[in-house]
Amino acid sequence: MSRSQPAIIVHGGAVSRHSYSLSAWRASVEDAARAGWAVLEKSGGTALDAVEAAIRSMESNPVCNAGIGSCLTSDGRVEMDAIIMNGSNLDVGAVACVNSVENPVTLARKVMEKTDHVLLVGEGANQFAAAEQTGIPTVSKETLITEQRKSELEKFRQFRKAVKADFNVQIDGGGHDTVGAVALDSSGNLAAGTSTGGITGKLPGRVGDVPIVGCGVYADNSIGAASTTGHGESIAKVTLARQALWFVEAGRSPDEAAKDALDGMLSRVRGRGGIIIISKDARIGFNCSTDDMAWAYCNAREGLKSGTNCHSSK
Ligand code: ASP
Repeated sequence: MSRSQPAIIVHGGAVSRHSYSLSAWRASVEDAARAGWAVLEKSGGTALDAVEAAIRSMESNPVCNAGIGSCLTSDGRVEMDAIIMNGSNLDVGAVACVNSVENPVTLARKVMEKTDHVLLVGEGANQFAAAEQTGIPTVSKETLITEQRKSELEKFRQFRKAVKADFNVQIDGGGHDTVGAVALDSSGNLAAGTSTGGITGKLPGRVGDVPIVGCGVYADNSIGAASTTGHGESIAKVTLARQALWFVEAGRSPDEAAKDALDGMLSRVRGRGGIIIISKDARIGFNCSTDDMAWAYCNAREGLKSGTNCHSSK
């Protein structure tokens, strides 16, 4: 079997005007990239395990809009979406509108590995989480809610009229710091995952792009893998993750593919966001069409790199 150069890249969301500390945000993605890299460095460490470890780290960090610290629905509740995809066989598992676990990405992985389905939603997904076969600890809804997200919801309510989508009109509403990870392991397997609380003030029951295959993630060992962030309704309309990988398949570099897919989304549906990509030959790329996106990546050649400005050259 041929050996690959392992690599991991993570994002902590693409935002327009960040409402809290850039350093805490950057630290959250650095911690996640380290957690994923620790898996890949071990002999036999898999891309799937690395993606799950990286996303769990951000879900458990209240700075990020996923797991603890998820942004809130219009009626002040948490409803989380998550997905994970295995590039070796295109297996995928996802959950939507869940509110009973700290780490929805792990629940998504259980859907992939322990059911015949791709996506479980709402009460069914919460019941599955509580089932013994998953072995996942459940948490009370309140433990997922932070003061920061409560105040963002308040702000959102005050500015409701102006908020079509923060990505388009650049209002400081917060709550878009969705998280994602993409990894390549030494066996040449790719995986990608994304996890989110969605967008502040969303209607109860709203499901965004994240748990939809080809939108929030795509992973295929024969091309590459991608995770996206940004205005979910826009991302879903252009199947952003798959679109970016089509560009990689057509010969563009991961950086170019990310930029071209985002430019297309902006011109076609006026949506903004960000993408991280690893190609099957271990090239790393990312871009965003918002003001900022927290990113961090790690490979043996460059070590850990990170930033919150995706427009500067790496
Ligand atoms: N894409 C997410 C959603 O719309 C939000 C984000 O990426 O921050 O649910």
